[in-house]
Amino acid sequence: MVEMRKPIPVTEAVRLVMEHIHTTGTEMVPLEHTYGRILAQPIIAQHDVPSFNRSPYDGFAVRAQDTTGASGDNRVAFSVIGEISAGYVANRAIGEGEAYRIMTGAPIPDNADAVVMLEQTVEQAGGFTLRKPFSPGENMSFKGEDAKEGELLIEAGTLIHPGTIALLATFGYANVEVAKRPTVGILSTGTELLRVDEQLAPGKIRNSNGPMIAAQLERMGIRYQSYGMQADDLDACTAIVEQALAETDVLITTGGVSVGDYDYLPAIYERLGAKVLFNKVAMRPGSVTTVAALGNQLLFGLSGNPSACFTGFELFARPAIIGMMGGTAPYMPRMTAKLGEDFVKPNPFTRFIRAMWDMTPEGMVAVPAGFNKSNAVSSIARGNCLIVLPSGTRGFVTGTEVDILLLGAEQGVSEWVL
Ligand code: AMP
Ligand code: MG
Repeated sequence: MVEMRKPIPVTEAVRLVMEHIHTTGTEMVPLEHTYGRILAQPIIAQHDVPSFNRSPYDGFAVRAQDTTGASGDNRVAFSVIGEISAGYVANRAIGEGEAYRIMTGAPIPDNADAVVMLEQTVEQAGGFTLRKPFSPGENMSFKGEDAKEGELLIEAGTLIHPGTIALLATFGYANVEVAKRPTVGILSTGTELLRVDEQLAPGKIRNSNGPMIAAQLERMGIRYQSYGMQADDLDACTAIVEQALAETDVLITTGGVSVGDYDYLPAIYERLGAKVLFNKVAMRPGSVTTVAALGNQLLFGLSGNPSACFTGFELFARPAIIGMMGGTAPYMPRMTAKLGEDFVKPNPFTRFIRAMWDMTPEGMVAVPAGFNKSNAVSSIARGNCLIVLPSGTRGFVTGTEVDILLLGAEQGVSEWVL
């Protein structure tokens, strides 16, 4: 007897997954290894930035009051008493009519309160003249203007990108507290599967999902453990799933979650006593996507169909893994675009279409990336986004405004909105 499954909306499925994640804990990592990790501590300014008043230009540090009345007809002269290059400090304060030659990044000497840019001066023996008055603070970079000591600059849960690393370095974080990365297992199920290096044989296909998911994880900087391929055999499959669960935090399987005679994942979840969060999602491709929880572990049962597998990973596994690391922006960024092709067939389920977005004279347009059935593999090799077509009785014509979800974005967003 075929079991009846009740499809739940994608948004509900995402919510259920995110409700069942457990965080991985934290570890200290040297700054140079933190790119792509998730901050487990906030970045708080350890001191003012800049930490001293400094010159943003190459020029001369002067007292603004000494420039009063300067004009083309009344050039005011200054004598240069020394030079301050970046990394040095002046050895004395300046007095009336005096100036220091100063370089970008060098500290403003005492008494000076303006910087005259080199190109605003005319050189003369022992100094220079200028032709305009300067106001106090003009052309200066002030202590604390970028960040004030004690200020919370970046919250915990933020992805560390090159800019974050610059900030951490600024404050001397040689070691940074980041979230531990979960270990993720990948198991491809299906008696029809061949390794990548095997010759095609009748009825067989090469395992493309395993390498694809490995790369989807790699793109997130997540380590994975491959459990290879497993023929559709309940006992053997159960054994390898058990082994994988003993060694990983998350297990991603592909195939075997439908209601076919050899789809054993549902039986395996039952044997393990895992709680199935859902086994039918109102989406195409990937309506059979199943997620189960066992203790602190999550089991993603992705469809064997490549497009469905890809989409299931991006929609559910990716945010869950980011969430496990305390990441506060786990979802794909969303934009709107004009549909670049007709999709006239109505669909009772939300449809995710692999597509290419591009800015055109008509605005942002998203064009489907080719053959788009759930078993498609060619279209997942193209494109940079997923078009989201809402479920309903109507079709969609070219030019319709649609939501698109961006693939491969380094930084995600904090809310799932569809
Ligand atoms: P299943 O989810 O097991 O019902 O498989 C659905 C379809 O995906 C079938 O046509 C399978 O042959 C195919 N398939 C399953 N696993 C993989 C895989 N690892 N790589 C490529 N295609 C697969
Ligand atoms: Mg199968």
